[in-house]
Amino acid sequence: MTLKDFVKIWPVLKKEVRSLRLPWIDQMTISKRDPFKVLISCLLSLRTQDKVTAGASQRLFYLAQTPKALSGLSVRRIEKAIYPVGFYRVKARRIKKISDVIIKKYDGRVPHSIEELLTLEGVGRKTANLVVTRGYDQAGICVDTHVHRITNRWGFIKTRTPHQTEFALREILPVRYWKELNGHLVAFGQGICKPISPLCSKCKINPFCAKVGITHHR
Ligand code: SF4
Repeated sequence: MTLKDFVKIWPVLKKEVRSLRLPWIDQMTISKRDPFKVLISCLLSLRTQDKVTAGASQRLFYLAQTPKALSGLSVRRIEKAIYPVGFYRVKARRIKKISDVIIKKYDGRVPHSIEELLTLEGVGRKTANLVVTRGYDQAGICVDTHVHRITNRWGFIKTRTPHQTEFALREILPVRYWKELNGHLVAFGQGICKPISPLCSKCKINPFCAKVGITHHR
């Protein structure tokens, strides 16, 4: 797939994902952008299914919605609220610690640069880019497993890791596509271009897709 093809499939992709379920963090930021909630939900989502993340986030935000309020909760209370997300004990400790750092070092505001976000414990490039794009509505490319898998299947890029994918996309993709790419490809990856046996026969992007590495499809 060339950039010219990408420009052609973008409106098709946008239309396609309208009928699919939006990822939790996209749903959460439709009415109001809150960088702190994006940060915490993204940390909860690591190695966890989207619907489990959604439930855990809602229970936790019912108890506390700001770094100050969250910092005032005990680790045990956070653990109980976020269970059964993966590694809930580690995540509970981390969330409390990050809330403390945001209060002490950043005066209660989540930093908005990728470099500063990366200094927070447990925050990698995926989370940092998501806070920048969904929390602050600024340019970034959040690459998760779906973005990495699908852009490689298309033959749009050829990379081995999500880290390489982010930088390859930053090179070739015009900035106007960056912010929405993650939300669209997460929905598309969960509904159509699934990790195992993608639904190629139903896929509107099929004529443009190189299907790199696809051995089984429906
Ligand atoms: S044709 Fe198949 S592999 Fe290509 S984007 Fe569509 S579902 Fe994914």
